Amino acid sequence: MYKSIRYLRIIIALLAMGVPTWALLAGYDSVFVRMQIFTALISGASVCLIFWLVVTLVYGRLYCSTVCPLGTLIDCTSAVSRLVRRNRSNYVYAPPATRTRIIFLIVAIASILIGTGIIPTVFDPYSAYARMVNELVARPLGLDSGAVSFTLSSLSIAALTAVAVVATGWRHGRILCNTACPVGTILAFTATRPYFHIEIDPDRCINCGECERVCKAQCIKLPEKTVNVSRCVVCFDCTAVCPNGAITYRTGSYRLDMPLMQSTSNEGGKAQTDAGCSACAKYKIKKIKDETIH
Ligand code: SF4
Ligand code: SF4
Ligand code: SF4
Repeated sequence: MYKSIRYLRIIIALLAMGVPTWALLAGYDSVFVRMQIFTALISGASVCLIFWLVVTLVYGRLYCSTVCPLGTLIDCTSAVSRLVRRNRSNYVYAPPATRTRIIFLIVAIASILIGTGIIPTVFDPYSAYARMVNELVARPLGLDSGAVSFTLSSLSIAALTAVAVVATGWRHGRILCNTACPVGTILAFTATRPYFHIEIDPDRCINCGECERVCKAQCIKLPEKTVNVSRCVVCFDCTAVCPNGAITYRTGSYRLDMPLMQSTSNEGGKAQTDAGCSACAKYKIKKIKDETIH
């Protein structure tokens, strides 16, 4: 089931990137512009803003995995990287860069409050994407309408953004989303514990590492069997590769079947496991066999 959900998510994301790209090249206005969070922030479109905050509270950062064209471009870069490097996607858990993302958020808010012209849009993921399409694709092909005046600063920012997206996305997936993007930071603070979220069942997990290997947000901490859901962009890549159905998109939390394996430290309210304990491993294997037989 998760494979189908993942394909559906990818189709929606490609449409949400393709339609505005075509609109930009053809010189049309696109409805997708009005769905963008930063645009809503600048224009004070509170309905759009509240809509996305409620969606994020309930479903997590779906905006980042489906609607944002810059996020999809980063995913495309990661996918090409996997093909070129013969599927050697080997993301590992990275600690949250909370201080960095707060600094970027403060700078972005300050630029909205005091900035004019191009400065606030530098931090807007949709504007960054549109600028790249305009400056690096439409203009060289002679497709731009001329409505947007050419400036050297706009071209330089578009080129720098493209380099940053490709350089970081190639090896580190969504690292820009979880450090520099102010929209990502707002959504991450909203999605500290969304109603539906990705969760690992420690009883079913066989420690194969596949989920961590494909997680572009680098938010799966396998030794603890936890997912940092505020950085998770709900792409369903991990759920699609798990060989034992141990990582799922669900409400609530898993509790381990063995009482002695429950957390005593209550670190972050998450259950702890001892991945190196052979008794636990034997117990899990037996449990999986039992479930397979029945
Ligand atoms: S974090 Fe920012 S750039 Fe990344 S997908 Fe979300 S909105 Fe787009
Ligand atoms: S892919 Fe599934 S079984 Fe493998 S480590 Fe992740 S959760 Fe555990
Ligand atoms: S935890 Fe899973 S759904 Fe979330 S970003 Fe990582 S791979 Fe995607």
